[in-house]
Amino acid sequence: MARPQGTKTWIEVSRGALRANAAALKRSAPNSRLICVVKSNAYGHGTAETVRALRGRADWFAVDSLAEAQAVRSAAAAEPVLILGYTLHENLKAAVRSGFRLTVYNPETARQLAVLATARHPAHVHLKIETGTSRQGILEDDLPALLRILRRNPHVIVEGASTHFANIEDTTDSSYARGQLRRYLKAVAVIESSGRPVAVKHTACSAAAILFPETHFDAVRTGIALYGLWPSAETKVSARSSGRSLELRTALVWKTLVAQVKALPAGTPVSYGLTEKLTRRSNVAVMPIGYWDGLDRGLSSVGHVLIRGRRAKILGRVCMNMCVVDVTEIPGVRPEDEAIIIGPQKEERIAAEEVARQLGTINYEVVTRINPTLPRVLVA
Ligand SMILES: *Cc1c(COP(=O)(O)O)cnc(C)c1O
Repeated sequence: MARPQGTKTWIEVSRGALRANAAALKRSAPNSRLICVVKSNAYGHGTAETVRALRGRADWFAVDSLAEAQAVRSAAAAEPVLILGYTLHENLKAAVRSGFRLTVYNPETARQLAVLATARHPAHVHLKIETGTSRQGILEDDLPALLRILRRNPHVIVEGASTHFANIEDTTDSSYARGQLRRYLKAVAVIESSGRPVAVKHTACSAAAILFPETHFDAVRTGIALYGLWPSAETKVSARSSGRSLELRTALVWKTLVAQVKALPAGTPVSYGLTEKLTRRSNVAVMPIGYWDGLDRGLSSVGHVLIRGRRAKILGRVCMNMCVVDVTEIPGVRPEDEAIIIGPQKEERIAAEEVARQLGTINYEVVTRINPTLPRVLVA
């Protein structure tokens, strides 16, 4: 029994699935290092648990912030850690001291690093190139000036150059990504024109790692696929039709327990706002989980949970710490029966993709929004 003592809702994360997915991604990109992206509490899977499962198998870890990088280090990972997001000026010194790799694209950051870096604590910089996502990154025209700043200090090491694709998950058409790749290579040529090669070139997220070998370079930055989730339905279709498919195993199961079961007559309204009335005499189960836990309020009257291997629809509004489900068709439900919010139970399964469809979002958001304070447990 994996349930941590005293908890009403918890997340089980399969060590075997994480490791199998990492191995599958390595087979997809056999000549590149595997950067395991564990930002946002490892996409909701738990940073410490995920890092413990993957250390020694990941080549690098990547996170969004200094605090997340420190969490990876606290899980005793010896692998290099790359901070993908913006690092505040006030955090640069600590990041450099810890040897974390920094994503850099602002001259202001470059100036600070040129002051901070020392022989004992060099700054390892990954230049992020703007190639068409119009998000984080340095424009090609501004790159030479940025390089001049960084090169004021020989202890600033331009270790990497990266970019990020804008439209690789949402389409089966790769033309925009190919344009981004051309602009990336042009920028790399500018960086390397000084005669110093960029050691770690990286551009690929999961979808690119799976679909486009020409994006692999020295390392692939995989997040979602590591957790056994496909970046999108389009990615899965493209992978199948191009013969590049791989086996992914979902790593996460989100569980809770039944808190109460009772029979209510037809016509009874259920939960806040009286938004749903029972159409028949019903058995309802109260579940001790709500939007605080990450069960989105948008699932009111729409979502399901699994109990005894059967689907139980959410009745009325999801509350802060509770929701009510219909168990009329499920005989014998009792308090403390195990229930599934996301994952399989007997022959049934609720996939993160199903919840995402119901909410008009993507599987990424569904798993990353599971409240990080809920306990995660590593299972086989
Ligand atoms: C989050 C992130 C990734 C991982 O993307 P997935 O689609 O989850 O594989 C890769 N690169 C950058 C820069 C990211 O921010």
